[in-house]
Amino acid sequence: MILVTGGAGYIGSHTIKALLERGYRVVALDNLSVGHREFVLCEDFVQADLLDRAALERVFEKYPIRSVIHFAARTAVGESVENPEIYYYNNVVGTLNLLSAMRAHGVDEIVFSSSAAVYGDPEVLPIPEDHPKRPKSPYGKTKLMMEEILSDYSHAYRIKYVALRYFNAAGSDPEGEIGEWHDPETHLIPIVLEAAYGIRDHVEIFGTDYPTPDGTCIRDFIHVVDLAEAHVLALEKMREGKANTAYNLGTGVGHSVREVIEACKKVTGRDFKVVDGPRRPGDPPALVADPTKAKRELGWEPRYTDLEEIISTAWAWMRKLYSRR
Ligand code: UDP
Repeated sequence: MILVTGGAGYIGSHTIKALLERGYRVVALDNLSVGHREFVLCEDFVQADLLDRAALERVFEKYPIRSVIHFAARTAVGESVENPEIYYYNNVVGTLNLLSAMRAHGVDEIVFSSSAAVYGDPEVLPIPEDHPKRPKSPYGKTKLMMEEILSDYSHAYRIKYVALRYFNAAGSDPEGEIGEWHDPETHLIPIVLEAAYGIRDHVEIFGTDYPTPDGTCIRDFIHVVDLAEAHVLALEKMREGKANTAYNLGTGVGHSVREVIEACKKVTGRDFKVVDGPRRPGDPPALVADPTKAKRELGWEPRYTDLEEIISTAWAWMRKLYSRR
């Protein structure tokens, strides 16, 4: 059985769907601070916090867990700057508790949800895994610390881990069962689609004077279904012995904020107000993955390489979500 922490969140819930489709048995754990109970498609669900060691202990006692996929974490960069304490406790101490419970129960396989935020401002593009790690926010620092903890534990206690560094997760389950739902929403694509839907007055572009072709930031948008697939592959390769390493997960192609807005207008067929605004502190001008290692070693190949197709899945989900609310 596979324990998925953060299983009610955006990427966690899509990964559970992928695991179930492959026939894995799954138990999800989530404190539901930001996740949605109805997104958990597996039968076994435990509402618990990683800071609650007794609750964790009960989960490992009750279920025959062989591997862990660990998503549970706070993920908002801005919030981490304002309130780092929540980040160091939830992300770092939470992971230490999880690892203690794993060790106590002889569970030695973990796939870890990391982030391109471990790199900080890129020195080269696309970014390879051995790029210098200078995270700019407490959020990015916690992701790097957790990778380092996993590396130390792999040497000292012989646990096996794979860290997956996501670039910009986007899109939703093409079958429309689950999708992206953050409250408040801070991510570019859902914000632009909310403006297209008419529930947001305008979109503000955070910075139009970057050293990029159109002056706006460039990001590598990777479909959440492709991310989910990478977790299944990472788990399977880890079991074959390919462990204790990190992979970038991105398409390798960047799109600017303006390109995203234009693509959203095209996909939705709707127009909306766009306002040029100042830079958002901490945003690197461009973040694009070099995904060669994941392709070569995991046999991973992103299916969604077309930005408009990615946006279409997000748009279909948003219309469903808001028609329900
Ligand atoms: N962005 C923007 N307006 C918004 C939200 C985001 O211009 O309302 C920009 C943001 O500055 C960044 C890019 O879109 O350059 C992607 O931001 P997002 O928060 O989606 O992801 P991040 O790259 O921070 O992980």
